[in-house]
Amino acid sequence: MSDADGAASVGGEAARRRTFAVISHPDAGKSTLTEALALHARAITQAGAVHGKAGRSGVTSDWMEMEQSRGISITSAALRIDYGGCVLNLLDTPGHADFSEDTYRVLAAVDCAIMLLDSAKGLEAQTLKLFDVCRSRRTPVITFVNKWDRPGREPLELLDEIEQRIGLRPTPLNWPVGIAGDFRGLIDRREGGYVKQRRTPGGAHRAVETPLTPEEALEADGPAWVQANEELDLLTAIGADLDLKSFLEGESTPVLFGAALPNFGVAQLLRTLVELAPPPSAPHDAAGRERAVDAPFSGLVFKVQANMDRAHRDRVAFVRVCSGRFERGMVLTHAATGRPFATKYAQAVFGRERETIDTAYPGDVIALVNATALRVGDTLFDGPKVEFPPIPSFAPEHFAVARAVDSGRYKQFQRGIEQLDTEGVVQVLTSDVRGEQAPVLAAVGPLQFDVVKHRMEHEFRSPIELNTLGYSLARRTDADSAPKLAVLPGAEVLRRRLDGELLALFSDRWRLRVVRRENPGLTLEPLLAAGDD
Ligand code: GDP
Repeated sequence: MSDADGAASVGGEAARRRTFAVISHPDAGKSTLTEALALHARAITQAGAVHGKAGRSGVTSDWMEMEQSRGISITSAALRIDYGGCVLNLLDTPGHADFSEDTYRVLAAVDCAIMLLDSAKGLEAQTLKLFDVCRSRRTPVITFVNKWDRPGREPLELLDEIEQRIGLRPTPLNWPVGIAGDFRGLIDRREGGYVKQRRTPGGAHRAVETPLTPEEALEADGPAWVQANEELDLLTAIGADLDLKSFLEGESTPVLFGAALPNFGVAQLLRTLVELAPPPSAPHDAAGRERAVDAPFSGLVFKVQANMDRAHRDRVAFVRVCSGRFERGMVLTHAATGRPFATKYAQAVFGRERETIDTAYPGDVIALVNATALRVGDTLFDGPKVEFPPIPSFAPEHFAVARAVDSGRYKQFQRGIEQLDTEGVVQVLTSDVRGEQAPVLAAVGPLQFDVVKHRMEHEFRSPIELNTLGYSLARRTDADSAPKLAVLPGAEVLRRRLDGELLALFSDRWRLRVVRRENPGLTLEPLLAAGDD
């Protein structure tokens, strides 16, 4: 993967990157799976075999060791796992503690998603919302049905739910022997082998995996083995086999059954990422032209975070490399302003620690410090100009009026609200009726409001009070419809500060339906991830 100068070729490096995120509902096991992936990859890398007994309690120090060993590095935005000759970049979607628009934006920076389901619960609300984003971007999705070591639902029933509710055709790569809760092992549908899985004594992290022949399996797992084989015949008969083309187009999903906690099926998930997940491909710019991965550097800002390090009071922009080789010190162009942007302070951020990063390739994430000019959705480039399409903002479902507790600190209030708006912590909506002093904050998840309150008080020194409004639905409207909507009961029109878009707010779907029925011809378009009317 080196050219004549000894430098790695951009095309070769891009081809071995897999950049993905895990989408799931809180408690489905995302943190557990992340740890399992990292630990598993490390165990393989270091020992060349599946060994080790790192318990959960040791995980924190394992992270640090992993960072030091440089095989795996953790940033607050991305986890890098070296596995099977590939670099797996797992982008963190913030968990339930701060579920917000942030989570959605991360999905703009990945090439693939793992949809993680709890075997007892199937598709849950938050997974569905996040899946909507994947669907809108046609992101390929690999499904991992987790917690198979616990009582759960029938595998065929779960597949049926995926197909019926979200229209993704499931193609299982492995098949469980034994029902959820009485789990015996996994059959690899493509290679045909059967591996019996047992927890290691004492509840250690790694499972004992014993390959068995069909004869041995029949003897060991009798009826469960027979039933699994009958189900497999059924799957083959209905043609539920891996279909790479439709997977890459976001129409079918390879499914793996397993359990992250005792490490069942985790190795197969890593292999699946390496073998099936797509490497970075030529992204399209705002004009619809392709930027080849080996074209000069271009990158997309997908996350901006201020004051990560309280001692430094800085602003960090996380950039996904889209094309070319990134080399620290390059002077790039900021597409939005046309101004140069020096990258002397490019870093990988390891938890609280930071480390300078020197080179990065398509699919990698770099952190740019003191990036005051950069906004989410911005493009940086070298060479010929390129600008990627903006990252869409998502349909807010929670609304609250913000006011400064101390009206004497209005300047700080205004500065803070503007800053949080530009960072995308919340969307800020205004109207002439409500006035500048009482903007409406709009969020995808209510916890975004807690972040705003905290930061307004501690960072901008202007404590605020928030009064929740009784709306739960936003639709895009236009200047013709706005005055008609404004006089209807149970509706309100506000302007989004950042882009001037007019949004009509409604209490619920029922209200929206009535307004529609009684006022045909009004412009009311759904925003992304808004669901059906
Ligand atoms: P997150 O909220 O999605 O990050 O979920 P966590 O990783 O924190 O897991 C939620 C709970 O489920 C924890 O108590 C985990 O120990 C448990 N859990 C996760 N994966 C498994 C699994 O494969 N089997 C079992 N039995 N429990 C699991």
